[in-house]
Amino acid sequence: MAAIASSSSAFQEQHLSGLALGELLWVAPDVYSTAALSGGQSINQTQAEQFFQQARDACEQGDISAALQWATRALCADPDHAGARRVLGYQRASDQWAGGYAARRLQRGKVWHPRFGWIRASDVARYEAGERRWGKRWLSAAEDARRHAKIKDGWLVRTDHFQIVTNHSRQAAAQLAMRLETLYQLWRQLFGGFYLTKAELLGRFDGKQASGYRRKPFQVVYYRTRDQYNAALRRQQPRIGMTLGIYFDATRTSHFFAGPEQDAGTIYHEVVHQLFQESTRSAKNVGALANAWAVEAVACYFESLVEHTGQNGRYFTIGTAGAGRLPAARHRRLVDHYYVPLAELSTLGTTDLQRRKDIARLYSQSAGLATFFMQYQEGVYRRPFTELLRQLYAGRDNPAMLEALIGVRYAKLDRQYQAFLEQLAAEIAAPQVAPIDAVQSPQSPTNSGIMSPVQ
Ligand SMILES: [Zn+2]
Repeated sequence: MAAIASSSSAFQEQHLSGLALGELLWVAPDVYSTAALSGGQSINQTQAEQFFQQARDACEQGDISAALQWATRALCADPDHAGARRVLGYQRASDQWAGGYAARRLQRGKVWHPRFGWIRASDVARYEAGERRWGKRWLSAAEDARRHAKIKDGWLVRTDHFQIVTNHSRQAAAQLAMRLETLYQLWRQLFGGFYLTKAELLGRFDGKQASGYRRKPFQVVYYRTRDQYNAALRRQQPRIGMTLGIYFDATRTSHFFAGPEQDAGTIYHEVVHQLFQESTRSAKNVGALANAWAVEAVACYFESLVEHTGQNGRYFTIGTAGAGRLPAARHRRLVDHYYVPLAELSTLGTTDLQRRKDIARLYSQSAGLATFFMQYQEGVYRRPFTELLRQLYAGRDNPAMLEALIGVRYAKLDRQYQAFLEQLAAEIAAPQVAPIDAVQSPQSPTNSGIMSPVQ
């Protein structure tokens, strides 16, 4: 069976079966994603209502992540389902559905343009003809680029959850912002329970409107070139040249660069660190004393995110057996017999982890463990794993916390992890029905630099 969410039977219609195929996720259409929709999807209000009821049931059972997944599915069946919109933080603005920030832009006559970000609707034609607004004047695109050539003078593109500064182009920033808005949607469907309580979410089912945006958006700096990225950050991180992207919790900012060396998995990895760090009031030095593996594990898990396009529109998979570091995790455990037992792993703090000679192998093991805790037996460990992350980011964790939360001793979890990988390996050897029409090949295992080296 698919390791989707705890209440996942309706997902079978997508022909997904087998652990090896990971988890399937949808994205609600909104102002940042409509451009990517394939169009022509039929509206099914009855199905939307069923999904919405499932969402409410999941919420009442305290399964926040499943509730948000079902609400998202309701919007894929009927984008105008008002209840599902409210639960996910959208409000009606002109003829669109938007988070609070986007709604205000729309009300002020602006539009989200996939090449320019938020601009006045009345300016679209001139922008598309190559002109750029500069206060009350208009410039050529070339002159505009010249004036934004340095990162300190960069363009600023803001969405409901992100703010991107770039000296590359408005288009690059808008595209990155759209990718990150999608990542945010996926992250909250998996870890909504990290920052949302059952009471808060139930309130939305009962009619309370959520703001749907962040007053202080997640900050991202996007450099035109790798050299500029290295030069700007070398003082903060002397080994910046070994990284493909980085998140600094001290300055609460992620940094990436454009160009051929850019790596999608790294962007997901680092921004996931940022989402966990900044979505709640986090402790300083998360993982300093213990459980540092879990911080990296959950970021590595998102390296396995892959986008697909099918008959029902756009969807994503995560945790498929061939994606991200999972092949390496399997190889280390089953072929090399490399494994650091959870009882020992949990005692390692960040510095312990970074000093280990086997750090690369520990990262791939951690990616494997995250997949296990998220997907084992249709997600039975997902909520305790999310709870560990909550306690960890709040600075209230201890090395024995995960086994206590799950109620299964580490030694037994070690054995279950091995059996999980063996089952994956068996399924890969004898593949079941494959997921449909992938448009993007799975990413190769990625190097997220110093913080997350290659396997
Ligand atoms: Zn990391």
